[in-house]
Amino acid sequence: MSVDFDAVIVGAGFGGMYMLHRLRHKGFTARVFEAGSGVGGTWYWNRYPGARCDVESVQYSYQFSAELEQEWEWTERYATQPEILRYANHVADRFDLRRDIRFETRIAAAVFDETASLWRVETDKGDKVTARFVITAMGCLSSPNTPKIPGLADFKGPTYHTGNWPHEAVDFTGKTVGVIGTGSSAIQSIPIMARQAKHLTVFQRTANYTVPAHNKPLDPEYVRQVKASYREMRQRARTKPAGIDFTINPASAIATPDEERRREFEARWTYGGLGFMASFSDLLLSDESNKTAADFVRSKIREVVKDPATAEALMPKNIIGCKRLCVDTGYWETFNRPNVTLVDISDEPIERVTASGLRAKGKDYGFDCLVLATGFDAMTGALLKVDIRGRGGVALKDKWSEGPKSYLGLTVVGFPNLFTITGPGSPSVLTNMLPSIEQHVDFIADCLETLRAKGVSVIEPVEEAQEAWVGQVGNAANITLRSTCSSWYVGANIPGKPRVFMPYIGGLPAYIAACETVVKNDYEGFALA
Ligand code: NAP
Repeated sequence: MSVDFDAVIVGAGFGGMYMLHRLRHKGFTARVFEAGSGVGGTWYWNRYPGARCDVESVQYSYQFSAELEQEWEWTERYATQPEILRYANHVADRFDLRRDIRFETRIAAAVFDETASLWRVETDKGDKVTARFVITAMGCLSSPNTPKIPGLADFKGPTYHTGNWPHEAVDFTGKTVGVIGTGSSAIQSIPIMARQAKHLTVFQRTANYTVPAHNKPLDPEYVRQVKASYREMRQRARTKPAGIDFTINPASAIATPDEERRREFEARWTYGGLGFMASFSDLLLSDESNKTAADFVRSKIREVVKDPATAEALMPKNIIGCKRLCVDTGYWETFNRPNVTLVDISDEPIERVTASGLRAKGKDYGFDCLVLATGFDAMTGALLKVDIRGRGGVALKDKWSEGPKSYLGLTVVGFPNLFTITGPGSPSVLTNMLPSIEQHVDFIADCLETLRAKGVSVIEPVEEAQEAWVGQVGNAANITLRSTCSSWYVGANIPGKPRVFMPYIGGLPAYIAACETVVKNDYEGFALA
């Protein structure tokens, strides 16, 4: 039976773009469907003020093309959203990707036809196409979470969500603004909104840990050195659990004398960025060690924030690094501004949004604009919005009703020829996304090539292999403190979502080794037909 494409790829972010490029080079036909009007995925949608990557730009970049690495010039230590979006567009142009991407088109349904062994894909524009393979590249944090706060529709002013920000610049000058949320997106945008707004009121349900970015323009000599040794840097990064080239101190925090421990934290703090969590090797393994890092950050808040009551409210009480650590520029300092108010709603949910603001803890707060920095239905949200049906017409959302189960975070029993780039059960959000994306794309492209060479038309994981992998993902999670708090990693931010630690926390090197073993053993754990 004839088929329209070898593969349908869902999403034209970094995953979808590279997938298209790799498949083309191997002589496969592919069509990408993308909801946005341009490429870039996360960086297309998240245009809120201050949005930038918290992984250093020279590392948060593709490595599949040495020419691309050499020709692209990053200008800052941490790239801004506009710069990353320019990079994504450059990649699309350089590799002539756009001709196979249908923009402003969402996949509505993908149904596996068991008789013909192909996927029937339908879009919201009414397209119907068939493909041997469906490859999702929909991002892990791409389905914005709008909380069901009563009265949200009553608000008369504009409401913005950080994860779906307007394309035209939003200027808060002279405006009063309310922000709900204090996660990464809020922590990046609050300092900038505070500089513009007449008054900014921040509604904080859970105080969060953040470390300074110490962002700066990139020194041309440093860039020259990086470009001269990109391969070595990428290779070192592949040996690190997070796929980021920074040095992990092998010592235990609690076993290190106080003075020396403080020096290490101070040095990491002064350097800035996520490497703070690599100050010691046991920060996510031992409560006591974790507390030393948490106390250090709390002491910094005390030093910076002048009003003792505000400082106290800003101090996170939970485990540092349990929720995703944030990286900021001037976040704590912002609460010293006379035009910024912090409202602690940790003990009582917001009562309701009103026409002119919101009501919390029995008090009315008025503002002109409302910003929802309320995060995402992470890892499974975007996937489950599509009606994906495998064998027997079973829907993925039913299959995952008790939480996602996958083989390697890439494939699902009952859903033949479906691949999920950075899907739940893979390291994804716990790593530098770019190398994780590239590793998945390479795995999938090589797999399709092998199947073609063998004359195999259907690949599907077997139940035992999937169960064993799910067991490994769970065991790895249980060793660390990361699975112990109410974070989006466990789906706790979405009411009713099953509580399962979704990403694989065993680290990128262990994950790559597992994938390589599967390939070496002739796609062990998969049934090929
Ligand atoms: P988030 O971390 O999930 O934060 C959402 C915030 O909204 C939390 O403070 C949450 O409080 C609050 N919230 C949600 N529903 C609420 C409600 N009904 N009432 C009051 N408060 C509510 O989302 P995010 O900041 O968008 O970040 C998500 C992830 O995206 C990050 O962890 C990171 O991985 C990624 N990200 C990365 C960057 C970067 O690279 N620099 C930037 C932005 C985002 P609770 O904590 O109490 O749930």
